[in-house]
This record gives sequence, structure tokens and C-alpha cells, in this order.
Amino acid sequence: MIDKPSLSRRHFISMSPLAAVALNIDSAEAQGSAIPAPDYTIPASGFHGRDENKRDWSGDPRSGKVVFLSHCMLNQNARIVGAADFPATFEPLTDYLQKKQVGVIQMPCPELYCLGLGRTAVRVGLESPAGGQRLERLLDDLIFTIREYLFQGFEVVGILGKEGSPACGVTRTWLDERQQDGQGVWIRELKKRLAAEKLDIPVPGVTDHEQDAAIEWLEEMLN
Ligand code: SF4
Repeated sequence: MIDKPSLSRRHFISMSPLAAVALNIDSAEAQGSAIPAPDYTIPASGFHGRDENKRDWSGDPRSGKVVFLSHCMLNQNARIVGAADFPATFEPLTDYLQKKQVGVIQMPCPELYCLGLGRTAVRVGLESPAGGQRLERLLDDLIFTIREYLFQGFEVVGILGKEGSPACGVTRTWLDERQQDGQGVWIRELKKRLAAEKLDIPVPGVTDHEQDAAIEWLEEMLN
């Protein structure tokens, strides 16, 4: 028989959501407190937003601050062939975020998710109906996550895009076989969704070898 109180946090996290909910309810009943069961269904709005699911997060060491990064800032292996600038991560940026105790949320790589690692005609693929559908699914998840953090009182410092990318560029993108001013497809669609959801979150761009500019921007936001 399982001794529920002795289950480690790791075991709890590795459980299926339903098992975790059952344990949560049993533990709550055993302790005489009524913790409402989390609602794992995603409503049409993509957002739980139920007051009974709000929590007080001040009782542990978490910073209460998160930032969203383009996927390849934490994993250069997702880059299109020949386009990695570093072995693994954007080190100055990630070192800085660690020093400032900001939680880092890695966005999915939209190009990889829509077109795979061996992708070639990126913009065409992302702008296709099938590409658009897949981007929409990623955006649903991202918007849900942002709204949940905000609803629970966390600070979402920003969403950092990757300049020069056909997907993640904020002010510079890859179009017609060259870099030029403009937005990537992912950032364009993300900004539309942020506006539609009335989410006022800054979306600055980061250039691979000019990360100091992004760090300066973060320094202003965090102080
Ligand atoms: S699509 Fe975005 S996350 Fe993926 S490799 Fe390009 S810039 Fe990085």
C-alpha cells in the first residue's frame, strides 16, 4: 500500500494529472482543508481564471518574475542547418537572468514544430495553411501560460524574440533570401494575439552577438 504522505515531490510531479488531483483531494481531506481540484480542461478562452485557483506564492523563495525566451536562446540545436551561432545557449543573457533570479520560460521553436529540423523554405512553410494551424496551437498554449502567470500575480517581464529570424525576428527578419527590416511570422502572430487578449507585454528582440543591448533593456525593466 502506498504511504501517501511519504511521496516525494518528484513522485508527485511524475504522476498523471488525475492521480495527482486524487492525491491532492485525499491529502486535503485528511488535513481538513478544502483545496479545490485543479481544472485541467482548457476553456474556449484558453484561460482558467478561476478565483478559487488563486494561490499565495509569497511563502517560498520564488522570485515571482518570469521571462519568455525564443527557444534557440537556450538550445542552439534547434537552428536551421548552418545557422547556429553558439554551441548551446545565449550565455551572457542566460547568465544574467540567472544572476537576477528571473525564471526562464523557453518558448517552442515554431520553425522546428511546423517544419522539422531539416527545414528549408521556412517562410513559405510558416505562411501555409498547415503552418498557420500549427502556429495557432502553439500560440494557444503560450497565451494560456502568460495569462495564468499574470492571473496568479506573477510579473511577466517580457517576451524576447530573436532578431533576423523568419519566425522570431522582432525588427529584423529573413525575407526574400536576405535580412531586412520586418517581423518574423511567429512574432507577428504572437503580437496579434497579445493585442486581441489585451495583454500589454513588451516584446524586444535579441541579436545573437549583441546580447548586451537586451541585458541593458532587462536591467531597466528589473530595477
Ligand atoms: S524559429 Fe525562433 S526559436 Fe526556432 S531557431 Fe529560429 S529564431 Fe530560434
